[in-house]
Parts: sequence; structure tokens; C-alpha cells
Amino acid sequence: MADASPGGKKRIVFLGPPNSGKGTQAATLAESLGIPAISTGEMLRSAVGSGTELGERVKDIMESGQLVDDDTMADVIRARLAADDAVGGFLLDGYPRTTAQVETLRQILVERVDTLDDVVLIDAPDEVLSQRARKRLRQDGRKDDHEDVVRERLEVYRRQTEPLIEIYDKEGLLRRIDGDQAIEEVGRQVAAAVGES
Ligand code: AMP
Repeated sequence: MADASPGGKKRIVFLGPPNSGKGTQAATLAESLGIPAISTGEMLRSAVGSGTELGERVKDIMESGQLVDDDTMADVIRARLAADDAVGGFLLDGYPRTTAQVETLRQILVERVDTLDDVVLIDAPDEVLSQRARKRLRQDGRKDDHEDVVRERLEVYRRQTEPLIEIYDKEGLLRRIDGDQAIEEVGRQVAAAVGES
């Protein structure tokens, strides 16, 4: 579909399991495209950190590795996408994560007479993801990242988010990238997949 937004900026979604390298690649690509990288996980962590009403509400569920409910997330993403910096284009890192969230995003885009340009999937085998998670645990000793929570996050992804791959693939939007490669190589392939190389 033709790019209809001012300045030709893109609307991109990043999909992928925890420890796939998705967040790093999302930030790099967004920077080079001049669009905001919107990480719902970061937004929620910051709400928890500053003790807002939203933060208090989502704290426990985040620590458990489960997903925050779709209605709460709809309010969060609606407000964020209405901000000035996201009018032209945006890169979503961590939203949508359920089929209900796909519908919410679709609705928001219909309202702004916009469409998605690309859905970038960065995936890697479970063994690779678990190994990276263990390495991170050793390095930063994050106490909200116990091994059972790491496992739970991956299971939640495979169960609730992986079905989104087929939805976006059917729409011809999916760009699959092998995340089990050097960061630089993944970066090159991501850029090429969205026509930026
Ligand atoms: P992330 O940093 O993207 O892995 O997000 C950290 C946590 O925030 C997740 O494990 C969820 O509890 C919550 N979260 C972030 N984005 C969403 C979303 N789109 N839907 C539901 N929960 C989310």
C-alpha cells in the first residue's frame, strides 16, 4: 500500500520472544528512520518506577511474567500513539502481543486513516533464548528476572503472541529475521527487510 503519511514515515511493528534481540534492533532502526521506538514494556516499567496508579496496578502481573490485560494496554497505546511525535510514524516494540491487541491497533490505524508498513519478526530457538537469559541473569543479577519468570515469559510469548505471526503473514506484512546471528548481521537484515539498506 502507498505510504500516505507526512514525510513518508513508516509504521512498523516488531515481534519476537524475550532475549531475541528485538529491543536493541528496534531502537537502532527507529533512530535511523527518525521515528519513535515505542516500548510498552519500558512505559510500564517507568510507571512502576514512579509509582503511578497504572504502575501500582500492573506491578505484580509484570513481575509474574504474565501479560497486562488488553483494556489497560489499549488505554496505554492509544494515549502514546496520539502524542505529536507518533503522528507521522512509529515503531512498536512489544505491542501488540495478543489477537485482541491486533484488533485494537487495527482500529486505531483505521481512525487515523493509516496502515502498517512492516511487521518484523526476530526469532531464535528456545535453547538460544534460554542461554542468553541465563547469561543476562549472571551479568546483571536482576531479581525480577528469576529463571522461572524467564521461562514463563517465553511460554506466554509462544502461547499468546506467536499466533500473531500468521495474522500478519496473511496480510503480506511479515518480515522474518533469524535472531541467532551476530547483532550487526541481524541489524543489516532488519534494515534490508524494511527497505532501508
Ligand atoms: P517487555 O519489556 O516488552 O518484555 O515487557 C515487560 C512486561 O510488561 C511484560 O512481561 C508484560 O507483563 C508487560 N507488557 C508489555 N507490553 C505488553 C503488552 N502489549 N500487553 C500486555 N502486557 C505487556
